Amino acid sequence: MLGTRGRNQPPGGPIGIDPSRSAVRLTQVTKEYGRGPSAVVALDQVSTGITAGSFTAVMGPSGSGKSTFLHCAAGLDRPTSGTVQLGGQDLGELDEKQLTRFRRTRIGFVFQAFNLLPSLTVEQNITLPLRLAGAGTAHGAVHDVTASVGVTGLLGRRPSQLSGGQQQRVAIARALITRPEVIFADEPTGALDPDTAEDVLGLLRKAATDLHQTVVMVTHDPVAAQHADQVVFLAAGRVVRRVDAPTAAQVKGVMTELRRTR
Ligand code: ADP
Repeated sequence: MLGTRGRNQPPGGPIGIDPSRSAVRLTQVTKEYGRGPSAVVALDQVSTGITAGSFTAVMGPSGSGKSTFLHCAAGLDRPTSGTVQLGGQDLGELDEKQLTRFRRTRIGFVFQAFNLLPSLTVEQNITLPLRLAGAGTAHGAVHDVTASVGVTGLLGRRPSQLSGGQQQRVAIARALITRPEVIFADEPTGALDPDTAEDVLGLLRKAATDLHQTVVMVTHDPVAAQHADQVVFLAAGRVVRRVDAPTAAQVKGVMTELRRTR
């Protein structure tokens, strides 16, 4: 178990979350880069919901809008039109300062390149989001998270003294430390060997299953995608397919089809 959390606990009920509730909802989201004849429509009227507590993979051919989807859904970038709601909050209603605070307290991020700060120890990297959010670093919470991702023995090291897999575990601990509602992962296994990738995907799976956190992962890897509850496929900036309980073979088939019809 990754420990317990209070935010999603209904009064008098077990830890859980209303499965009918979307943790992330995009409504008619369009994102254009540039203007006039050279404008690129990266997302084209995307409307989709991601169920709270689910693990969702976002896939599609190169240039289909995956990164743009993730950036808009996570409030790292603003859509040209349409609305993004996260945990019921319309991100468009927040000014830059409020949006930054919202991301720090409600969202966790995991990147392909780990993005750990080299001058900080593992422990300082993990607790950084708490300090940025102005929250205390309760020892118990830090222990729970570091134990759950298996980095307790590494707390005094610097990132340069860790393997890639260990660095990604630390990055996941950092993403989990604020108990965010939603974790966005951008190709989290892209730099890892297959065995280490399996471990990391297991941790993301555990965050969704044990903690009812919502995990949204962009990946190009059908084997990684089969760990998800569902795969959302993008092509030319639109959601063109959803597959529940995906197998790698199924995902590979859809990807081949989408590349062929580009
Ligand atoms: P993916 O992640 O699926 O490869 P992206 O979201 O990165 O797709 O890109 C979708 C489309 O938007 C592509 O045509 C890409 O060239 C374009 N694009 C992405 N970012 C920018 C940008 N900052 N400026 C101009 N065009 C962009």
